[in-house]
This record gives sequence, structure tokens and C-alpha cells, in this order.
Amino acid sequence: MELDVRTLMVVFTVNVFAVSLALPAIMGWRVGPAARQAVLSTLLQAGGWFFLVLSTFWRQQWQDQVCSVLAMAGMSASLVLLWRSIGLWTGRPQRAWPMWTLTVLMTLGYGIGFENYPWRVGLANGVLGTQMLAIVFAVSRHSPATGWRWRALIGLCMGATATVTFWRGILGAFFTASYPFLTAPHPVNKVAALVSNLSLVLTTAAILMAYREEAERELHAQAITDDLTRLLNRRAWTERAEAQLADARRYGHPLVVVMLDIDHFKHVNDAHGHAKGDHALQLLARLLREELRGGDLAGRYGGEEFCVILTHTREGQALSFDQRLRHCLRLQSEQELGFLLEYSAGLAAQGPNDQSLDDLLRRADAALYEAKRAGRGQVVLAPRSTVEASATAVPA
Ligand code: GH3
Ligand code: MG
Ligand code: MG
Repeated sequence: MELDVRTLMVVFTVNVFAVSLALPAIMGWRVGPAARQAVLSTLLQAGGWFFLVLSTFWRQQWQDQVCSVLAMAGMSASLVLLWRSIGLWTGRPQRAWPMWTLTVLMTLGYGIGFENYPWRVGLANGVLGTQMLAIVFAVSRHSPATGWRWRALIGLCMGATATVTFWRGILGAFFTASYPFLTAPHPVNKVAALVSNLSLVLTTAAILMAYREEAERELHAQAITDDLTRLLNRRAWTERAEAQLADARRYGHPLVVVMLDIDHFKHVNDAHGHAKGDHALQLLARLLREELRGGDLAGRYGGEEFCVILTHTREGQALSFDQRLRHCLRLQSEQELGFLLEYSAGLAAQGPNDQSLDDLLRRADAALYEAKRAGRGQVVLAPRSTVEASATAVPA
């Protein structure tokens, strides 16, 4: 069986065009930046290969030069976009200018030195191979949030393609007689054409896997987040708080639950409008996020009610947290909302009688009720155990 390099190139070009149309058709147009760049990458690759095949019709004429330069630019840009999409998918985007600079310099060098075959073949393949290795590096970096399968697939494809690309560059630059033109029937050239085809199929599968993983991540984030405040919703907060509590009980470290409820919020809505009310909720959520340490958890428990779990924290530190938050809310609400926003809070420290999160929440809720009853705008510490008499109001 005789493998004809030009035929393989034409088949590849048709395939990559089909992929560049199929991907957006499958994913739709409203995709995230990573998927968009991956789709654009296949489009540019298709364009690059189209011009490369076209160039073979005019060997050593000016049309050959124009088409070949466009082909190199398209292929190199396609690799940069794939590299960028991987950076976004893995949550490790890198500055792109060195890669783009490489693309521009290679295209310029290739176009200017077109007459010098060893130079242009060595340069183009050297740069393309380097960009492929950058992709291998990008997928091999530690990224706990993403699956290893699609990254391994892209790494394998790019590693194999980089190998044949470097090899072809070396042949063109230093063993020109054995590889004197693009479609020369050299075994390495045939292997390169086959590897490109295989790599396209597998990389497309990997892109679809990465895209599905991104969609799943987004769905999960939506399922656990409150739309308005971007805090954890009640279900997600409860789930995580239970895990935190189990940890605290197991390792014997202190933990405090705080329940907050905005004061006279109905009046805020009535007097300033629902949009201002929403803004007030977002403000308190933002301040909660700013005041919490890593490991602490805040969630929107209900309408204008929030729950916080403070780990490795005793009552005194929890009270300081409350005072800081209260202080910031006073300042910021006057500034941002134009009126004073306050809240009442109930605080319950984990004690020996708390068997579950529900026990703690019940005590925090009772303390919150006390804070409301005592005039609002204050925090109340729940008694440590059920035998202690009553809640203690702490002056705000
Ligand atoms: P208290 O000081 O006793 O807590 O009084 P309150 O007015 O804050 O409490 P109440 O439970 O009477 O009213 C809560 C209000 O919160 C009623 C409801 O319309 C409003 N609310 C709940 N969720 C939202 C929301 O997402 N946006 C806005 N703007 N208002 C909300
Ligand atoms: Mg309220
Ligand atoms: Mg309420």
C-alpha cells in the first residue's frame, strides 16, 4: 500500500474543517472563553491546512509563498489559542504575549526567508514544535479542579505531534536532500501526516471532555450558590457546616455558629424599594466574605438571614468578628445605601451537649430571638449548655 502525503494532507484538511464546524454546532455559540478559544483554534487550524494544501499547487511561485505564510500563521495561532483555552480550563492562564510574539516572528522570518528552504522549514517546524511542547507543559501542570483524562489525551497528542514536527524540521534544515519539498514521500513525512490525523481525532474528543467538565462544574457551582449574594445557599452551607462540625468534634477544636438577621428589613424594602433591599443583602454578603478567614463558612440561610460557622474559634474571637462586621456594615451602609443597616445576631459555641448541627442552630436561633427581643442591633451569646439559665446580651 502506498501512502501519498498529499492525499493524507487533503483528507486531514477536510477532517479539520468538519471538526471546526461540528464543535460549535455541538457546543452552541454561548460558551465560555475557554471553549470559544478551543473552537477558534480548530477553525484557524483548518484555515492553516487549507492554505498549506493550496500552496502545493504552485510550488516555488509567489502564490506558494503567500499561501505557505498564511498556513504557518494559521497553524501557529491555532496552537496559541489551544494553549490559552487549556490555561483557562485548568484555572492557570498564563500571559499570552510570548506565544503570540513567537507566532509573529516565525511568520515574518518564514515569509522573508522563503527562498531559503532549509531555513524556513527548520524555523517553522521548530517554532510549531515548541508551541506544541508549551501545550504539553500546560496540560501536565497540577490542576486539582480538572480531570486528568482529557489533559493526558492532549498531552499525548501534542507530544507525538511535536516529535514528528521537530523531526521534519531537522530533516528540512540539515538533510534537505531527503526532504526537499512539503509533500516529499519521506517516511517521517508520512508518519507526520498520520499522526496529525490521529491527533485531530483524539484532541477533538479531549476538547469535548474538557467542555463537558466545565459545564458540570458550572452546574454544580449554580446548585450550591445563592444567586443574589453569591454565598453558599442553605443546603450547601448546612452540608459543609455538618462536615466542619464533625471535624471539630473529632479533633476537639472549638467552633462557633453565628446566625444573623437584618433588622427591620421589611421596612428597608418598603421605604427604599426592593432593588435597594437586594443591594443591602449583597453588601452584607460582601462584608461577610471580607471579614471571614479561610476555612470559615458563610451562607444565606433564608431571606435576610445568614449563617456563619467559625472554625478554630472561641466565643471571644467570635464576638470580635461580630464587632468588626457590625462596624464595617455601619460605615459601608451609610456610604453605599444612604441609610444605616443593622443586624441582630445569635452566637452559639459548640459545647458537649451539642450532638448535631441542629442543636447548635437551635441555640443560635434562640439567642438571635433574644437579641431581637432585647431591642435589635446587638449580638447575644447562647448559654453554653442547657442547664445554664438564660442568654447573655452583649452590648453592641
Ligand atoms: P426583624 O427586625 O424582626 O428581623 O424584621 P424584618 O422586617 O427584618 O423581618 P421580616 O421577617 O418581617 O421581613 C423580612 C423581609 O425580607 C420580608 C421580605 O420581603 C424580605 N426579603 C426576603 N428576601 C428578600 C430578597 O431577596 N430581596 C429583598 N429585597 N427582600 C427580601
Ligand atoms: Mg429581619
Ligand atoms: Mg428574618
